[in-house]
Parts: sequence; C-alpha cells; structure tokens
Amino acid sequence: MNQSILQVRDLRVYYHTNDGAVKAANGVTFDLRIGERLGLVGESGSGKSTIAMALMRLIKPPGKIEGGQVLLDGVSLLDLPEEKMRQMRLKEIALVAQGAMNSLNPVMRVRPQIECALRDHDVKLSSIALSDRINELLDMVGLRRNVADLYPHELSGGMKQRVCIAIAICLRPKVIIADEPTSALDVVVQRQVMETLKTLGKALGASIILIGHDMGLMAQAVDRIGVMYAGDLVETGSVAEVFADPIHPYTKLLIASLPTLERKEAARGIPGLAPSLRNRPVRCPFQPRCPVAIDRCQTEEPILREARPMREVACHLYSSESSRVMEAS
Ligand code: SF4
Repeated sequence: MNQSILQVRDLRVYYHTNDGAVKAANGVTFDLRIGERLGLVGESGSGKSTIAMALMRLIKPPGKIEGGQVLLDGVSLLDLPEEKMRQMRLKEIALVAQGAMNSLNPVMRVRPQIECALRDHDVKLSSIALSDRINELLDMVGLRRNVADLYPHELSGGMKQRVCIAIAICLRPKVIIADEPTSALDVVVQRQVMETLKTLGKALGASIILIGHDMGLMAQAVDRIGVMYAGDLVETGSVAEVFADPIHPYTKLLIASLPTLERKEAARGIPGLAPSLRNRPVRCPFQPRCPVAIDRCQTEEPILREARPMREVACHLYSSESSRVMEAS
C-alpha cells in the first residue's frame, strides 16, 4: 500500500477579492497511496473542499490555482488541456461533491442520469449492456435495481447520495473524492453510506479521499488522516496513531473536544476563532489560539515535516531546531 497514486505538492489556491487574496489552500502537500482511504478533516473554511475542487480542476473565478503540482498516476493534472482533463474526470478521478444529492436533475429518472455520465465519456454500449451496467452500479452501491426508474424526489437522502456515488464510480476511477458525503443524513444512514464507500474502494481497487469534519465518523472510515487548519495541512498519520497520540496542539484540542462515554463534564470547544485567510501575517496560523505557543510562532510559519516515522506535523515544537531548544531548556 506504499506506492502513491496521487501526489499533491505545494498546492496553492487563492480566491481574489477586492480586499486581497484569500489563501484557501496555502501550499498543501500530501500523497495518496494505492488502495488507501485518506481522511481530510478540519473546521469549516480550513480548505478541505477547495482541495477537492482543485484536484478536479474545478476551481472557478475568482478562485485560481496559483501553483503546485498534482500528479495522478504520473500525469500532471494541472498541465493537461481542458478537454483531456474533462476526460480524466470520472474515468481516472471522480468527485462526490458536497451536497451532490441535491444536484441530481429533478425532472429526470435515475437511469438517464447515469447514462448521461457514461455517454459524456464516449462509452458506447448496446442498450442491453447499458442496462446491465446500470444494474451493476446500483447493486454496487446497495440500491434496488428499480431505483433506475424513479425520480430523485421518490428517493430518500441516503438513496440519492448512493445514486451520486454510482455516477461517480461508473467509469471505475482510480481515485474517488467524497466531500462531506454524509452531511444532511441521519446517523444510521451516515454509517451505511460510509460502509458503502469503503466496500466500493476495495471492490474497485480505488483510493479514496474522504473530506469531513466529523472526527468520530472519519475514525471508522479511513486508514490515514490529514488535519487541516486555515488552508494548511498541520498533521498527518495513521488514524489509530493520530487518535491515540496526537502531536499538533490543534489536533490535540480537536480530539480532546470529542465526546466520550467516560467523560462526564460538559463538552469543551477550542477557544478563539480560525484566522482570516486574507492578508495572513507570517506566523503560525494557530498561534492566536495555541496554548503552548513560543516566541518563534509569532514570526515564522511552520512547515509540514516528518516528526516521527510516518507522522508529519507543522509545528515549531517539533522541528529539529525547536527540539534542540526544548531539550536545552
Ligand atoms: Fe502552537 Fe507554535 Fe506549534 Fe503553532 S507552531 S501550533 S503556535 S506551538
């Protein structure tokens, strides 16, 4: 599972406004390994959805991909002509966008909506083969075959989300990005949809990037986790290690704020607010909220680096220079 299918390097996405550039993704770097499920978590505005849209090259003005590299199986997505990139979507990399279930065409039955996705990519199948393919897709996402003949308003939220997932996998992509795939669904259905995604990933041999803010749900669904804060990736590691032993002060507070069966006291949030992403000062973006900040945090932005084997963190307390300072003190 160590070979990367997707390499993201120093990805920068800015939204240009009259008051300056909003740096929604500020140099994000990570790898997605073959067959891996990677969770990107963070609060609203941390840049998770921007990353999803940038990987699909679907950022619209005033947003712009300012720099960086996205390699999908060795192909540089940011350098492809638009038509070639259009062909890559669904076929190589697919997105179940946030609120996707509301994007189904309300006046079309499910069958033609899946057919459209296939035809858009020049898939030429006889009507029998097309029908078989649609049945197979519905089976894969756990829907009854008669769903193909229903309109979206005849489906529950969970069923609509499964239809969107069926469309996303119709060309067997190598990478599936699911942005908040369970928002607006009840808790039981959330778990079922997550299970479906897990099963599909395995069945297709696809890698999955799961985007969300529910750490508990994420813990059950992914192998590795990346914590985002203010447009930066601040910690990565296996889900078991990050939950058992978080390194970054933000991750520590995030995990400490999760409800547990044992904890009796009232839930604790993280004091303070996330910083504005416009006109960011050069400092650690978490510095105003960080309970363990040191002087250096006010003048220097930490970069993501390996703190332990297979664990990366962006925090001065764990850079080698700061480690020496801490050991000496
Ligand atoms: Fe806190 Fe400094 Fe680490 Fe930022 S770099 S998380 S302010 S200790």
